[in-house]
Amino acid sequence: MAKYFQEEIECAPRERIRAMQDEKLRKQVRHVWENVPYYRKKMEEKGVTPEDISSTSDLHKLPFLSKADLRNAYPYGLLACPLKDCVRIHSTSGTTGKRVIAFYTQADIDMWSECAARAIVAAGGGPEDVCQISYGYGLFTGGAGLDGGSHKVGCLTVPTSSGNTDRQIMFLMDLKATILCCTPSYAAYLGESLKERGYKPEDIPLKAGIFGAEPWSEEMRRDIEQTLGIKAYDIYGLTEISGPGVAFECSAQQGMHINEDHFLVETIDPDTGETLPEGTQGELVFTSLDKAAFPLLRYRTRDICTLTREPCSCGRTHVRMAKPKGRSDDMLIIRGVNVFPSQIETVLMNNGYAANYQIIIGRVNNTDTFEVKVEMTPDMFTDNVGEIDERRKALSDDLKAMLGIKARISLVAPKSITRSEGKAVRVIDNRKL
Ligand code: ADP
Ligand code: ZN
Repeated sequence: MAKYFQEEIECAPRERIRAMQDEKLRKQVRHVWENVPYYRKKMEEKGVTPEDISSTSDLHKLPFLSKADLRNAYPYGLLACPLKDCVRIHSTSGTTGKRVIAFYTQADIDMWSECAARAIVAAGGGPEDVCQISYGYGLFTGGAGLDGGSHKVGCLTVPTSSGNTDRQIMFLMDLKATILCCTPSYAAYLGESLKERGYKPEDIPLKAGIFGAEPWSEEMRRDIEQTLGIKAYDIYGLTEISGPGVAFECSAQQGMHINEDHFLVETIDPDTGETLPEGTQGELVFTSLDKAAFPLLRYRTRDICTLTREPCSCGRTHVRMAKPKGRSDDMLIIRGVNVFPSQIETVLMNNGYAANYQIIIGRVNNTDTFEVKVEMTPDMFTDNVGEIDERRKALSDDLKAMLGIKARISLVAPKSITRSEGKAVRVIDNRKL
């Protein structure tokens, strides 16, 4: 079985990757300058011309693009080629406000499928595999992205899309799906549903899962791996830059390799915009080196994470990103303290809870209220008030130790929090600020 989809690129020496990036960057900057008046104006305001960008070390001279720019330029303002050359659009799920639209030429789609194919092969996929894609199909990039990758690899693709859990389970078991692609929260839900129907991990034909589109913790990974009897791989992407497959995990499970031949990455200080040294936590910024229709330069993702170029045991040479800690705008400020939902999830999972929880924030008399509502597992569920009180206290102490602030804990019955088929809704902020 092939270990890589494109070994010569995925394992290329660093100097070769760098040379390739330098050349593509020069070309891409010129393409944008000539075809995107919106970005050209931003460059002019900063006093930069394409002549100033001769290699990736000049990247910092270019202006940033943000989600606000994408909204200002909606719908066609950042399009860099004639509409007749475009074959598709996708749109963000709008987790954080108005949707944005990204355009693709056929070459853009092919490049993206190639990236997703690398992810599937890294998860042990090959032509003999049955790949069930339970990410939503449609405007969301999840379904289409993995679908393209699965076709490139030559798997038997089962495009179930999201939802209809009974049907998911029927296809999964009847067609003996070996690879499952969906959001981690849906994977956890499917696992729970299979367990309820009496399936043990060894009855489930799956060997691997490719889960992404939302943050998930190592603890959640272990949980899903156990319930489904699989190895679970992370995959990262965003609509603005293409979709899932911008970065993917290899068997080492030590961070996700970013497809550096197509995407140039930096981490910056979100407050000052300064480029940070490798290994320092900051906001991820991407420059797409190949995209023709919607080539974003220095796009600020608001995802907070760290990068490493330490050699990886899998042999791939592309830079790795750690699991994003959440978005800089996902970060909650509760009673003045910065809180990432991922920190809360880690504490919950360490205390034996499944990832079915909600964080509810409100404001009473100018003070923030902070409630963590979490489902007990069936084994924990009991009528013994003393036992529940003890659990509540243990959780409250651990959360306080992790976050520095106290939360009100509500332990609720199993299955009482609504499940999501796509990205989970974990934060309910009722403060009108
Ligand atoms: P929206 O911004 O509306 O959610 P997208 O569907 O394009 O639009 O989502 C992209 C975002 O999803 C990323 O910027 C990131 O915050 C999140 N994301 C995607 N994959 C992962 C992952 N593997 N881990 C954590 N977050 C992820
Ligand atoms: Zn690796």
